[in-house]
Amino acid sequence: MSHIPHLINGERVAGNGRSAPVYNPSTGDSTSAVGLADRATMQLAIDAAKAAFPAWRNTPPAKRAQIMFRFRELLEQNENEIAALISAEHGKTLEDAVGELKRGIENVEFACAAPDILKGEYSRNVGPNIDAWTDLQPIGVVAGITPFNFPAMVPLWMYPLAIVCGNCFILKPSERDPSSTLLIAELLNQAGLPKGVLNVVNGDKDAVDALIEAPEVKALSFVGSTPIAEYIYSEGTKRGKRVQALGGAKNHAVLMPDADLDNAVSALMGAAYGSCGERCMAISVAVCVGDQIADALVEKIVPQIQALKIGAGTSCGLDMGPLVTAAARDKVKGYIDAGVAQGAKLVVDGRDLVVPGNENGFFVGGTLFDRVTPDMTIYTDEIFGPVLCIVRVGSLEEAMQLINGHEYGNGTCIFTRDGEAARLFCDEIEVGMVGVNVPLPVPVAYHSFGGWKRSLFGDLHAYGPDGVRFYTRKKAITQRWPARKSHEAAQFAFPSNG
Ligand code: NAD
Repeated sequence: MSHIPHLINGERVAGNGRSAPVYNPSTGDSTSAVGLADRATMQLAIDAAKAAFPAWRNTPPAKRAQIMFRFRELLEQNENEIAALISAEHGKTLEDAVGELKRGIENVEFACAAPDILKGEYSRNVGPNIDAWTDLQPIGVVAGITPFNFPAMVPLWMYPLAIVCGNCFILKPSERDPSSTLLIAELLNQAGLPKGVLNVVNGDKDAVDALIEAPEVKALSFVGSTPIAEYIYSEGTKRGKRVQALGGAKNHAVLMPDADLDNAVSALMGAAYGSCGERCMAISVAVCVGDQIADALVEKIVPQIQALKIGAGTSCGLDMGPLVTAAARDKVKGYIDAGVAQGAKLVVDGRDLVVPGNENGFFVGGTLFDRVTPDMTIYTDEIFGPVLCIVRVGSLEEAMQLINGHEYGNGTCIFTRDGEAARLFCDEIEVGMVGVNVPLPVPVAYHSFGGWKRSLFGDLHAYGPDGVRFYTRKKAITQRWPARKSHEAAQFAFPSNG
């Protein structure tokens, strides 16, 4: 069985302690083992990053950007291999894996603008013979901890930008599907990144705790579930680190009575069942305003759910693959059992799906519940599987109250032809990313990504302009060059232009 190593100081480093199995979720087979770093291994990466920092921070931003341009080319050239690795360990379809990689590449393209985004601000003559400017300087050694569900895209949200801003980076990817993440990092080294600027250390809680506790690590970016996001935010900030920690979600789509139903159903199918529902922006609740639209939705969507093409993610032309692990499958089935026990109407049941030829894969079929109420666990909790819940309400105001009352506030959308309703929704909904007739409003790379409430701990969103702010610190410099032969007398009043 192959062993997935770490990448430290530009070299593959074998783990010498614990390891964890990595599965092919389509077959249920364990295909490799990934090393789980101990503190000594993590310290090697921290030392490498620290040693690389002085030269890297002084490398001109334009030169840093040139490496990103080459990285971008290598990512495109290796698209098929990367997508196949994602699919083999995560289970998502090849087309979906290519989609995530392409969204990741957009973040590399944003990072290529480093000389422009790091320009700072300049003011001449703020006082007599005095000029002032604000510099954007790197923070030092920073780290990222990422989830299993986007092994290519989420790491690419973080380190290309952190690195072009002049920082050195340690990435702790998910231990469930680490191979594509490692290959992509090696491509960046191949593009000419100096040793130690990017290090990838595989592991679990021990590796994460080593990063939290290391005084050399100045900032932590985290994406994953809410309990771990909250833990990392509180432990990191307690130690004076800058932390942005993105957590879980329960994303609602509101269907207004005037919605273009055919298009809304297509949008819901992709947003609820794409990637088997394992997306933090997946739609898991359809809030129908009025029974008429709810009944029409059920009638139209049921045959489409029953017709989902489900199979091994690595085959072409499928709609959905398996869940990532047996534990994830069992958890999702447990929620479906709970939904039935708590009185929701199970309209399509995906629990007994068997994929011929892949009987041991971690599959659950598309599932639909109707008449879900806010007290049920299928409504309150993030299921992270192919389960869509319909909640029926009487008005847009009631729909908005429901969404605003939920603990998560990552994404949401409204399907309507009514501009006034859409505008009210955008203004008053307590959610960080909002779509109007767009089911997955994931911001493009030159905007920033982040939820509200318990979907994000920290002040700055991920990537884009907020990413630049997160990975730099400002220094304000005020400089006087006295006019030739002039003499300035001592001033005891506070300096001003008054
Ligand atoms: P997870 O929280 O289990 O793991 C995320 C990372 O934290 C992994 O690298 C893991 O090794 C590490 N980790 C796990 N347990 C830990 C512990 N006790 N202490 C320290 N570190 C620990 O999340 P996951 O299952 O990999 O990913 C799915 C979750 O991520 C979902 O909740 C999903 O909504 C969320 N997610 C959020 C976003 C977002 O942008 N808000 C994006 C993608 C995924």
